[in-house]
Amino acid sequence: MVATAPLEIPSIEPSARVREFIQSPRQLLINGQWQDAASGKTFAVYNPATGEPIAQVAEGDAEDINRAVAAARKVFDDPSHAWNTMTPSERGRLIWKIGDLVLEHADELAELESLDNGKPKGVAAAADVPLTADLFHYMAGWVTKIEGNTIPISVPYAPGAKFHAYTVREPVGVVGQIIPWNFPLLMAAWKLGPALAAGNCVVLKPAEQTPLTALRLGEIIQEAGMPDGVVNIVPGFGETAGAALAAHDDVDKVAFTGSTEVGKMIVQAAAGNLKKVTLELGGKSPNIIFKDNTDLEATIAGAASAIFFNHGQCCCAGSRLYVEKDIFDDVVKGVSAAAEAIKLGPGLAADTEMGPLVSDEQLDRVTGYMNAGQESGATCVTGGTRRGEQGYFVSPTVITDTRDDMSIVREEIFGPVVVADPFDDLEEIIDRSNDSAYGLAAGIWTSDIAKAHRVAARLRAGTVWVNTYNIFDAALPFGGYKQSGWGREMGREVIDLYTETKAVCVGL
Ligand code: NAP
Ligand code: MG
Repeated sequence: MVATAPLEIPSIEPSARVREFIQSPRQLLINGQWQDAASGKTFAVYNPATGEPIAQVAEGDAEDINRAVAAARKVFDDPSHAWNTMTPSERGRLIWKIGDLVLEHADELAELESLDNGKPKGVAAAADVPLTADLFHYMAGWVTKIEGNTIPISVPYAPGAKFHAYTVREPVGVVGQIIPWNFPLLMAAWKLGPALAAGNCVVLKPAEQTPLTALRLGEIIQEAGMPDGVVNIVPGFGETAGAALAAHDDVDKVAFTGSTEVGKMIVQAAAGNLKKVTLELGGKSPNIIFKDNTDLEATIAGAASAIFFNHGQCCCAGSRLYVEKDIFDDVVKGVSAAAEAIKLGPGLAADTEMGPLVSDEQLDRVTGYMNAGQESGATCVTGGTRRGEQGYFVSPTVITDTRDDMSIVREEIFGPVVVADPFDDLEEIIDRSNDSAYGLAAGIWTSDIAKAHRVAARLRAGTVWVNTYNIFDAALPFGGYKQSGWGREMGREVIDLYTETKAVCVGL
């Protein structure tokens, strides 16, 4: 067992507005109506800073998923429904308005996200909420630009015949979307924005740990004027509601973000009706620092933020830090000092820089890895402890003296734990970086621009950051190679993944 170091945790009351949202049980959104689960059951949502329940939420299961899918199907299949007769311009303005309303309610959303997930409110206000609004604004722009092609065809077996051939991109249909707890509101936006821009109808299942901002977003989407039944939100458990959604025969596509393990279950569940599948899964991303870089201070700060941002609960966290030998000790010292300087506390405290992990389950998981590292003979330079007896806090942790076959080097920890190792050969470090089941992201820190591009080309990862890390934008596609997923979120690519191509060929 890892030790527990003391931590004073001030108790902070949420604002009246947020208290009002969480004081009565939150319901499911199906066909434009907020309603209880068919079973009448609810489940508790916890404040990860205290471990205390803060809200009750309707517990959707297979029956609620059936109802939500039926509502979405009915809208999608009715050509005279308002959603389907809306012009692209009108639909774009509706999605734009969701972005505007997110900004209008930014402070409330940031507070709710902080309370539910544990992240500092200031971080939610600076990153999660504006990125959410920007995602809707960006996707609103796509609606009027989802175009097909006209295609000159030859048809060798029909000499002399004339044809007019073209493609159109149509929505896939009813889309099931299953999201995780690390960026609850932003993940809802990444999923809903492009699906709606392309004209789909949606059933969204938020994570059981963090359903609150998705439910508040549901109200915002209604306030924007979304027709009933286009967006349905069913909180509940993965094993029941999530599994039912992934397996449902009337769902045309399932889009999932979460663990690679569950991603594989989604693929199997989807096989029944061969629904389309996109997956954004885990990672164990290499972050490579070369000794030629001229701003070591900024590089050290970047490497610390690559792993400690969002408490390391990022699928793309820079969790394998590789440092060229000559500067290894300096970098480890610097990243460890940065770790020790991070102010831990509840997300709602103004001076908090890192909040708790999201759940007791994640606390067990992360401290389990800290334990495994210590038992396998690695050196914990700093951290390696739980913090306080209350809530799910752990110390930001730096581990050295690892071997490449250790579980802490190979597996996704999903906490503020970085393994650091030296290297002295370019080919060696490219091979070691790629020696992973994952391929989500990678970082390169160098002042040699040619080297940066050469190494970027060799890394098997969906995103490569050079002299920066954790830069996200609605226009920049994000997703994984290898077992980090199928398909991409955001950018032009995601629109393709929420549309089918229809080829139309007219004999003239
Ligand atoms: P998870 O189980 O993969 O959860 C992600 C989503 O999938 C949640 O909405 C979950 O519902 C749902 N789900 C779970 N089992 C399902 C099933 N059989 N069918 C359909 N949906 C299902 O992830 P977790 O258990 O919360 O976290 C475990 C690990 O996953 C983390 O430690 C981390 O390594 C990884 N993870 C990765 C990401 C990412 O962004 N790639 C995000 C979160 C976690 P419930 O929450 O209701 O169970
Ligand atoms: Mg789970």
